[in-house]
Order: sequence, then C-alpha cells, then structure tokens
Amino acid sequence: MTEIEQVQLSMDGFEVNAYVVHAPEGDIIVDAGAEPGKILARVREPVAAVLITHGHADHVAALNDVLQATAAPVYIHPDDAGRTDVQVYEPLQDGEDLVIAGQPIHVLHTPGHSPGSVTFVIGEDQVVGDLVLPGSVGRTDLEGASWEQIEASLDKVMPLWTENTRLYAGHGLVLSAAEELANNPYLPPAR
Ligand SMILES: [Zn+2]
Repeated sequence: MTEIEQVQLSMDGFEVNAYVVHAPEGDIIVDAGAEPGKILARVREPVAAVLITHGHADHVAALNDVLQATAAPVYIHPDDAGRTDVQVYEPLQDGEDLVIAGQPIHVLHTPGHSPGSVTFVIGEDQVVGDLVLPGSVGRTDLEGASWEQIEASLDKVMPLWTENTRLYAGHGLVLSAAEELANNPYLPPAR
C-alpha cells in the first residue's frame, strides 16, 4: 500500500502540513507551505509531481523552492493558481483520474475554504487540504470562501469514507475518518 508521509512544518510558529506520497515509481509532494528543506529531506525517490490542495500562502509559500529543487511539474486547480506565482501548471479538474509515478489519484474539486480547493483520493485515503480539520472544517471567513460550498464539498468526499479511511489534513495530526464522523460537530450528518 502506498505510504503517505506527513511533514509537519512551522511557518512563523504556525503549524502546517505537507505530505510526501511514496508512490510505486517515485515520490509525490503535496503542498509546500514552509521549510522546503524539511519537505525535500523526506523524499526518497525522484519527485514525479507537486500537487497543491489550495493556494493559500501557508500551503504554497515554499512552492518555488521545491519546484526548483525537483524540476517536477505542479498540479493546481485553475481557480487557485492565481494565488501562487507559478506561471506554468497542470490544471486539476473535478473528477479526473491521474496516474502519477504509478499511483492512481482521483481528483475532486472541493471548494469552500478557497475557490480552487481540491481533495486527492488515494486508495481509501484522502488528502483533504483544509476541507476537514481535526474536530473542525476549513475557515469560511476568508475572501472567496463559502460555507455552502464547504457543505457541498463534504457531501462529495464523505460518501467515499470507509472504516479504514485516513484524512490527511492541512493542519494537525492524520485523522481517522470514522473518528471524525463520530466526534467532529461540523460535519453534516451522514446520508
Ligand atoms: Zn487555507
């Protein structure tokens, strides 16, 4: 099974996560908010791609350093690409099935915290960015954010949750979807 490694980063004392997906034929970095050296230190194989869950600064501030070090292509949703300074990128589309370094990745457009937020479905697991946070969901008091969209996006990802699903969020520890279902008051009731 593909290992998804959490990299806990500090951005001016504020914690944020990146991930390294150890795919069958290479590594995939997800998000690059700070401390690029710490992210790159977890890489074991050539980096086949850098995926971005959303374009807020705490998820992309180290993106240029990571791209320079890896020469990998970057994948981001067009609605958040303008928040970064990348000019050339692979546009993520809702419902598309990528295969990167031998790893199938299903892409879901899950706006709400930001217009171009996406969730990466990897097997039973999900890299959710700031859609779901420990005991909470992403902030919707920011420009371009929408509570209605967060709810619609949760309705998209939650039906895929199984007893085994882990949620790799933008902040905090790796989550069990089942535990969040039981304890997270912000999640809509399962339908
Ligand atoms: Zn954010």
